[in-house]
Formats: sequence, structure tokens, C-alpha cells
Amino acid sequence: MQYFNSNTVLFLNGQFQKASNTTADIYGQSLHYGYAVFEGIRAYNTHNGTRVFKAREHFERLKRSAELVHIPFPWKITDLIKHTYKLLEINNLKDAYIRPLIYCAPNMSLIGGTKPSIMICAWEWGAYLGHEQLKVCISTYERPNPKSIPIEAKVSGNYVNSILATTEARNKGFDEALLLDMNQNIAEAPGANIFIEKNGKLYTPPLGNILPGITRATVMELCRVLEIEVIEKHLSVTDLKHADSAFFCGTASEIAGIASIDEYNFPIKWTDSIGSTLQRTYKCLVLEKQNYEVII
Ligand code: PMP
Repeated sequence: MQYFNSNTVLFLNGQFQKASNTTADIYGQSLHYGYAVFEGIRAYNTHNGTRVFKAREHFERLKRSAELVHIPFPWKITDLIKHTYKLLEINNLKDAYIRPLIYCAPNMSLIGGTKPSIMICAWEWGAYLGHEQLKVCISTYERPNPKSIPIEAKVSGNYVNSILATTEARNKGFDEALLLDMNQNIAEAPGANIFIEKNGKLYTPPLGNILPGITRATVMELCRVLEIEVIEKHLSVTDLKHADSAFFCGTASEIAGIASIDEYNFPIKWTDSIGSTLQRTYKCLVLEKQNYEVII
């Protein structure tokens, strides 16, 4: 996958510059120790022009992530949103995935809080997990204990755990992994949250041991409008393997249906599931197609 070409421009510390002319310091603390925070945001080509979906929520989470790991955040969110729109315009991107990254200066010590840089880049990216329902396995890896690293922060170093889980799943012939938390409850996918459907209701793990997904919050908002009950509670693997249907949700993957977990096939046809309704509704919402209350 080519993320940039000779014309691509990125944003770095207040300047727009050619991606191909940008360098990063090989002695950086972020590169050596994973001490960086980032976001994953999508922009959509809507009837009302290019819209960065939930831009403020994403930059607020970026700020919170930085604060949780003691990386200074001297920027104004309103400015970062403006720079993001400008970046899309310069690169002539309408449907895009946007990646802000805050990384730290050279420092081989383990003391945090060093001078941060902010970089924002964007590229065209299709559905991260594809359009087919996924074959998922329970990972042998667990999500990090929130007492070892703030799990609600989108910290680069946490994604070693994600890479291990996805790589293991692919090596075993599955599409994606599902990780448990330290108490053996269902947590999340390497880059998405999970909902399960049982008897017409949705269930999802509560906040605490997972990344507080912006798509997860959006799904819950949509459910309020659609009068679908959502229950946040700890869920076991047994709960999952007795469910009617399930789906992942995240900015990159949007709403992605799950066909099976290990050997267990979900009994409801995806097109008949609540997840499928939410998939369509979510798409209308991000594309600002119509008022989603009217569609259903
Ligand atoms: N969990 C993890 C571990 C993630 O990396 C992501 C993607 N940011 C999510 C959940 C979903 O979060 P969001 O809906 O905000 O993209």
C-alpha cells in the first residue's frame, strides 16, 4: 500500500510540507519506546462537501490520550480541525483516512514529557476489514491491564498487542482476532469495539478495559434513535457463543459483521441482524444522506 506520492503534503508542527521531504529523528523516544499517541479519523465526500466525521471528538481523545501519558498538548483543537480540512483540500482528498500523530523528541531516557511534535497525514483507504462477514478467533493475547498502561488512551505502544493478535489470527486462517481482558471477559478487537445481539437487544463491554470508541458511542446514539436497547455489561466467551449475531465497529472498519467466532457460527443471517441495520444507518449518517431518523 502506497500512503503517499511525490505530490502528497502533510502537516507538521504548523507547516504544510511535502511528505517525501519529511524526515523523522532516528533517536526519537517515540520510535524506540512506542511513546506516542495518535488518532484514526475518516472524512467523507457528502452532499454537503467533504466532512470530517466527529472531528472534535477525535481531537479531544487525542488530547486526553496525550495527557494520560504525560505528553504535553500545546495545540488548540479548533486549529487542528482547521488544519485537517486544509490538508484534505491541498491533497484533493474527499474520502480519506486521517492520521494525526503526536511523537516525542530524541530522548533515550525513560522520563516522559519531552517536547512533542504533531503530524497529520491523510490517504484514501477502503473498508479496513473488507465487506464480507468476518471469521474471528479468540486471541491467546489479552488486552493490556489498565493498571499497566491507560487503555483508554490511544498510545502507539499499545498497538504491539494489536499487531500480535491480528498476526496470530491471520496465521491461523482467521480474518481478525477478538481479545479478552485480564478477567477473561470480552474486551475488543485489535482496532475495533464489539457488540453482540441476543433476543433483539445489543450488548457491549462497558468502558474500563477497552478503548472508548467514537464509533461505539455513535452506535449507541443510533440505537437510542432507533429504539434498540443497548446493555453495557461484562460478557463472557460463553455469552458470545450463545449470541444471535455480532459486529465490530471502528472508524477504519465502520460496522463489520462477524460470521463466526472460533468454531461457532452466528445463527442469524447478517442481513436480518441489528448490525446490518446499523451498518446502513451509520453509512447514511456519515454521508449526511438524510436525517437517519426518517430513513427507518
Ligand atoms: N478499539 C481499539 C483498540 C482501536 O484501535 C479502535 C480504533 N481507534 C477502536 C476500538 C474503535 O475506536 P473508534 O471507533 O474511535 O475508531
